[in-house]
Amino acid sequence: MPEGDTVFRAATNLATALDGEMLVKTDFRVPQLAITDLSGRRIESVRSRGKHLLMDLGDHVVHSHLKMEGSWHLYPPGGTWKRPAHQARVVLHTADRVAVGFSLGVLEVWTAEEATTALDYLGPDLLGPDWDAERATRAVASDPDRGVAMALLDQRNLAGVGNVYAHELCFIVGLHPEAPVSVVPDVARLVDKAARLLKANSLRAMRCTTGDLRSGRELWVYGRSGRPCRRCGTRLLKGEIGEDPLMMRVSFWCPRCQPAPD
Ligand SMILES: [Zn+2]
Repeated sequence: MPEGDTVFRAATNLATALDGEMLVKTDFRVPQLAITDLSGRRIESVRSRGKHLLMDLGDHVVHSHLKMEGSWHLYPPGGTWKRPAHQARVVLHTADRVAVGFSLGVLEVWTAEEATTALDYLGPDLLGPDWDAERATRAVASDPDRGVAMALLDQRNLAGVGNVYAHELCFIVGLHPEAPVSVVPDVARLVDKAARLLKANSLRAMRCTTGDLRSGRELWVYGRSGRPCRRCGTRLLKGEIGEDPLMMRVSFWCPRCQPAPD
């Protein structure tokens, strides 16, 4: 599941290959952009902001969000794609590279003016140059009754934490995912831990929160329901959290290390 570190890495890879290159052909395969043609423009930069990927083209910005299944791949011209062509939402050609965005959850082309305000609602980006731990801490702490996992997932508080990190962080600090923010002993420390986890994972292909990079040992609780807690051996539980019944998220925790709130 893409989180801030995945998007950061995707942006870094695309930037290495594409920054400064001219688009010689563009092929948008979503209905609302079917007639969009951005060929002739130079890619000034590719960057991430939270879980959003932005490609600056001077007068326009291509905005994409990976959501659940999305990914960006780079190929040489004529190279064989690793995902089916029908999943391609956009194909961008430079002289010697082809960038393909597969199954993107969001794909938009903004004018440069639209782009300046479109992501203003996002909180400080955990992996961005604007990272501001104090602001993120204040935002998380501002709603003390809210469940801690949901507070971490709210991209208006801090941008980049997805469901995996939210649950791993809850385990690390010994809190049930639905425990209210008011019981977090030190919100600043939790926010700092989030920043350090994402940063440590931002440049490697795997996501590890335990410090043990061996296969199958990377995570504390996420995706491990029914298996023993790595700290106490209790069987991990799985449930759902969310404030909107249509937007529930899967949840994992250890009933002993992370007792349910009263
Ligand atoms: Zn435990």
